[in-house]
Amino acid sequence: LIDLVNISKSFDNTMVLDDLNLSVKENSFVTLLGPSGCGKTTTLRIIGGFETADTGKVIFDGVDISKLPPNKRQLNTVFQKYALFTHMNIAENIAFGLKIKGKSKAYIDDKIKYALKLVNLDGYEKRTVDSLSGGQQQRIAIARAIVNEPRLLLLDEPLGALDLKLRQDMQYELIRLKNELGITFIYVTHDQEEALTMSDTIVVMNQGYIQQMGTPEQIYNEPENAFVADFIGESN
Ligand code: ATP
Repeated sequence: LIDLVNISKSFDNTMVLDDLNLSVKENSFVTLLGPSGCGKTTTLRIIGGFETADTGKVIFDGVDISKLPPNKRQLNTVFQKYALFTHMNIAENIAFGLKIKGKSKAYIDDKIKYALKLVNLDGYEKRTVDSLSGGQQQRIAIARAIVNEPRLLLLDEPLGALDLKLRQDMQYELIRLKNELGITFIYVTHDQEEALTMSDTIVVMNQGYIQQMGTPEQIYNEPENAFVADFIGESN
């Protein structure tokens, strides 16, 4: 579905991504895993169109989308702290993007109901943002992304702010959503366990390079170098 071809990126003469190549298949759950500062978020932002690479291309379905703005790409992004609009209720938050697209009220109401059901928050339309827990707010952020029917969902540490129990619940929920909706996920985390639990494919990154890419079993059982072995072996 998406290919990164020879992507490089520097900030202030420091190389953050160095000739990165990555291929993501349709309906897979791919996790970018690595220590803080290794370039995970930058990779995601380049895919999402929030950042431009210095060199290289982003190919979506065979088409070069490197120069398209985020809203022209068939994808949505959920960040760790997704700012919901606090002056709007939940339904208005979810409806926001659809209204901009000029969708009818009936269509939007339908979509809101559907999305709230998917994230297990039936009947929350009229609630205020402040009355929701962090985990519930994050679910709304995901619902808001889903109503746009993206082919690809980019998630940057979306569960980072949640406590352990909630994080585990949400991990299962995300996997369920991926299976039910048939969309492709690219997920950023520095949490080894989370990556091992959720992914079809793990991309282990360090200092702008891909150290190893494989299934959780391959990464765990057959680390290709000392960095991967050490990083996977570390507990959080
Ligand atoms: P974390 O898990 O801490 O978010 P990360 O792996 O996502 O880390 P990035 O956020 O991609 O890493 O950052 C990689 C490097 O690029 C870091 O050294 C960071 O300071 C630097 N960097 C990222 N964005 C910018 C920017 N806009 N300007 C300057 N430097 C930046």
